[in-house]
Formats: sequence, structure tokens, C-alpha cells
Amino acid sequence: MSKPITDLIHHPYTPPAGFSAPQPGVFKASTVIFPNVAAMRARDWKQKVGYTYGLHGTPTTFTLEERIASLEGGKHCILVPSGLAAIANVAMALLKSGDEVLIPDNAYGPNKALADGELKNWGITHQIYDAMNPADLQARIGPKTKLVWLEAPGSVSMEFVPLPQIAAICRERGVTTALDSTWSAGIAFNGFDAGADIVVHALTKYPSGGGDVLMGAIVTRDDKLHLALKLTHMRVGWGIGVNDAEAILRSLPSLELRYRAHDMAARELAAWLQGRPEVSRLLHPAFEGSPGHQHWQALCGGNGGSGPGAGGAAAGLFSVVFDERFGTGQVDTFCDALKLFKLGYSWGGPVSLVVPYDIASMRSARLGPCPYKGVLVRFSVGLEAVEDLRADLEHALSALG
Ligand SMILES: *Cc1c(COP(=O)(O)O)cnc(C)c1O
Repeated sequence: MSKPITDLIHHPYTPPAGFSAPQPGVFKASTVIFPNVAAMRARDWKQKVGYTYGLHGTPTTFTLEERIASLEGGKHCILVPSGLAAIANVAMALLKSGDEVLIPDNAYGPNKALADGELKNWGITHQIYDAMNPADLQARIGPKTKLVWLEAPGSVSMEFVPLPQIAAICRERGVTTALDSTWSAGIAFNGFDAGADIVVHALTKYPSGGGDVLMGAIVTRDDKLHLALKLTHMRVGWGIGVNDAEAILRSLPSLELRYRAHDMAARELAAWLQGRPEVSRLLHPAFEGSPGHQHWQALCGGNGGSGPGAGGAAAGLFSVVFDERFGTGQVDTFCDALKLFKLGYSWGGPVSLVVPYDIASMRSARLGPCPYKGVLVRFSVGLEAVEDLRADLEHALSALG
């Protein structure tokens, strides 16, 4: 007879098979238990035919990987602890000392910071290219170029790049492309159809939808590329929490509904702000006059119109450039006066957010003067009633005097 504590840990009861519910089960493990030594020796964590160790996956994380791969139209998916970790994993897997990576000027900022920090320390160089000028990219691709980052639209300034054209240039030159497709969320357009080899997605944003989970995904169609990414993933030990995976699995069924609701509300507010005298420029790819609007139309199915009725799909994000007569202090006052729009980074959750940016300081001087004069404010529209959000904006604008 074993002692009660041992029985508690090695209890003979197993629940009956065949349980079925709307959400998949949650399986948590660092240790995975093998039935015998032969099974332990025969373990193969790469093929996902069994389980080896928590870092290499559980039924819950495999389930989320498969759903994200389907969402993005890919074959393989690797989960990492954040969107930024996904970017870092791609760089670490594909670049070695002496290689070069090309990053668009309007890329997600920390991607450039990684290139300027760790990658530089490891003897990997980078160049910033003008995302809206394929000829600039073409001229920068050289024998050392091993990876080109793509992003559409650009972070903060929202220019929509001619993605298929840029991807085709890279393909022709034999350079691997990685697309940060967080904005599209697998809904507005398909990254692989646009020509990318790797699609990276910050699940932190729309797939989570709660503003409470950090996670990233790296999706591929190519087996060899996936294996290279997976080996790096295994060696650096990125683990994700299974409860976080569960939270995202629970949010995924409403992803498209939420995405379209964010989109509709954002276009209504953007159209309204565009008509305000305090605003000199609206940056939203679904609006005519926004940089790359025609590329958004071509890729995301806009029906030729502009703004709220333009068809196609877009995220709930846009930026406005304030009229030059309003300095940083006044725009800060506007942001502080907002009550429903909160000050905070990230996006994709129910709460509307706002961030003021000094856009000129974020641009590479080499590419010429920043085209945006005036302070830029980026809005992430949440799921509150649009009328209330508009009233909030109107009230805060009145604080500008
Ligand atoms: C938020 C974001 C990331 C990073 O995601 P985290 O999970 O916050 O690390 C990467 N790329 C884009 C475009 C993002 O908006």
C-alpha cells in the first residue's frame, strides 16, 4: 500500500475519453511523461507526431499553431512569447555574421532597434530602405542581403506599400522575405499570396483582442524554412504560457467580427477627424490621399471608393497629423483631455488608445525630409460606441482652443 500523498500524485483514475465542448481542452506541461524508454528514445519533437517537453508543445499549443497557420494560409506555425520575439527568432534563424538585413523606414520600431543592437553586435549589418520606393530597395539588395522585412501598412505613419511588387523583386534576387502582418491579422489580405516567404503576426493585437496577452507567431509554407526557424526556436527556448494560448483560442472565433467592427468604427472616426480644421492630414490606407491608398485597394479589395464605404478590410488603426500651428504641448493637452481614448501602447483590444509621436525623429534622415509636418497622433479604435468616441474627440479638440 502506498501512502495517501503518493496516491494523490499517482492516482489511477483517468477521465473517460470522448469529452467534447466548444473550446479545446487545456493541457499544461513542462514535463511530458513517456510510456517507456523506447518511446523516450524515439521522441521526435520536430514532426509534431508526439510530445517531448513543454517547450516543444502540448495539445493546446499545437491546436493554436494549426489555427494560426490556417488563418494566415500557411502550413507551419511557431508560437513565441511576443510579436517582437517572432521578429527576433526570424533574424536569429536566417542571419549570421557578415550578412545584411533590409528593413523598411516605417517598420515597427523595435525591429530597427534589434538590428541596431544585437544584430550589429553579432556582425550583421542592416540598411533602412524607402518602403514606398521599390527602386530604392532594389538598389540596396547586394550579395550580403539575406533577409528583407516587409510591413503593410507601415507602423504609425500607415503608408501602404506595393507589397507584391517588393516581394517579387526580392524573389527575383533570391532573398528571403519576412512580412510583419500584424495589421492584416490574416483578414485584410493574405501575406503569402502577396509574395512573402515568412509571415509574422503579433497575436498580442487582434487575435488576443483583450489587451491582456502577449504572443507572437511565425508562419511559413516552406518546410525547409520552417525547420530552420524551428531549430532556432528550440535552441533559444522561447516558451509560451498555455493559459495564454487558451485565451487566444477563446478569442479566435470572434476575430473577424471584431476586426470588422474595429474597422468600421475607425473609418467613421477617421472621416470625421479628416474634416476638422485642427487636422492637416489623415493617414489611413482606406482613404484616398493617404499614401499607398491604391496599393491597399489592390491588395485588400477596396472597391474604388474612399473611407467608410470603400469596401475591403482595414484594421482599426489610423493616424492624423495636426495642423502645424499646434505644437507638441498643445497636442499633449489634446491627448490628456481624452477620456475614453486611453494613453497606451499596443492595440487590438476593446479599449480605444492614443499615442502622440514625433514622426520626424523616427525617420532615417538619409531618405530626405520627413513628409509630415506637425505632430502625429496614432489612434487605435476599440469597441466602444462610435458616438461616444466621437464626443470624446470633439471635447478634447475643444481643449486645443
Ligand atoms: C505590436 C507589434 C509587434 C510586437 O508585438 P508584441 O507582442 O508587443 O511584442 C510587432 N509588429 C507590429 C506591427 C506590432 O504592431
